Amino acid sequence: MRQVVLTLNAGSSSVKFALFDADGDPTLELVGRVEGIGSDAWLRVKNAQGETVVRRDLDEGAITSPTDALATIMTVLSELAPDTEVRAVGHRIVHGGVDYDGPVLLDAPTIAKLEALTPFAPLHQPHNLAGVVAAHEAFPDAPQIGCFDTAFHRHQPWVNDTFALPRRLYDEGVRRFGFHGLSYEYIVSQMKRDAPYHHDGGVIVAHLGNGASMCAIRGGLSVASTMGFSALDGLPMGTRCGQLDPGVVLYMMDQLQMGPREIEHMLYKESGLKGLSGLSNDMRELLASNDRAAKHALDYFVFRIRREIGAMAAVLGGLDAIVFTGGIGENADIIRERVCDDMDWLGLEMDEDRNRLNAPIVSSDRSRVRIFVTPTNEELMIARHASGWL
Ligand code: ADP
Repeated sequence: MRQVVLTLNAGSSSVKFALFDADGDPTLELVGRVEGIGSDAWLRVKNAQGETVVRRDLDEGAITSPTDALATIMTVLSELAPDTEVRAVGHRIVHGGVDYDGPVLLDAPTIAKLEALTPFAPLHQPHNLAGVVAAHEAFPDAPQIGCFDTAFHRHQPWVNDTFALPRRLYDEGVRRFGFHGLSYEYIVSQMKRDAPYHHDGGVIVAHLGNGASMCAIRGGLSVASTMGFSALDGLPMGTRCGQLDPGVVLYMMDQLQMGPREIEHMLYKESGLKGLSGLSNDMRELLASNDRAAKHALDYFVFRIRREIGAMAAVLGGLDAIVFTGGIGENADIIRERVCDDMDWLGLEMDEDRNRLNAPIVSSDRSRVRIFVTPTNEELMIARHASGWL
């Protein structure tokens, strides 16, 4: 039997998974997802080359929980990867709270502690933990390892960890947790290997996907991030608002008579690029559109990123590199170009040809600050953490 590591990311309507060979540094074998839990569920699996190897509609109403989804995933894995033994399961868990600054074995007391964090991440934490319970039932002998989106940021300086609210709220855990930590951790590990000089310096990573955030990193450690208490803060995203004056929320409550769930829906699902454009949350659609509102949405997106670059360069006390990652960061050359336009005052100069090709380095040879395009790989980061328990 070959030893493999499974990674799971269980959400409200989907379970994403990846299977890694665990001999040495984990190598991807299969990656897939069950989508549509509770409605018309389907399963898709791709191989390491990105080719779809299974696409299956699942019986209507058959998949109503992460446990059902995992049973389906196990069946398909036994077909596609026979003679393998799952030796550890790595879970993506959105919130590790104040205490967890790295991966952790998910035993009963730890799970109880993580359950208590549900009020901090009500849309994600319960589903993440339901995935842990399902995986424990499916693989009772394999260690379940929790990998947190918050862990990478836990040692930020206090000034970036807090809000200027009465101190007791900080003590209760109302802090700036930052998210996308597994992505940043992966980028840092790649830089350490491929660009050690820049790794040791001041780096801004822009993770631009459906969710978007930026992180200021010095010597491989998170110093500041744009996401705060929740995954709403900072940059505008596909459907999330980004930075918002809390007075707007008070106005929604008092003057518009909106309730908490209605406000939540607006801030998470109806805002950002979708809200501004009235068209789509999808960057490709917005880039292809001639619509004025779509252009405005892109203007705002670029403006906020540029503003954060200035702020983060100041926080870092100088800049050595910028890394673009995530679906937009890796692919949207026009967005990268607009973000870096006229930034020579900061030592940034882009090479247009390299940028058009999404090359790994898109700065010119003259640029004092190096600009990288680095595909992120959160699943690999989780698999590496989980394989530490083999
Ligand atoms: P998630 O946060 O869901 O993981 P991704 O990192 O996959 O999201 O990013 C999705 C975003 O990337 C979408 O807005 C999509 O339009 C954008 N994107 C993907 N490919 C391209 C491309 N070739 N050009 C421009 N944008 C792209």
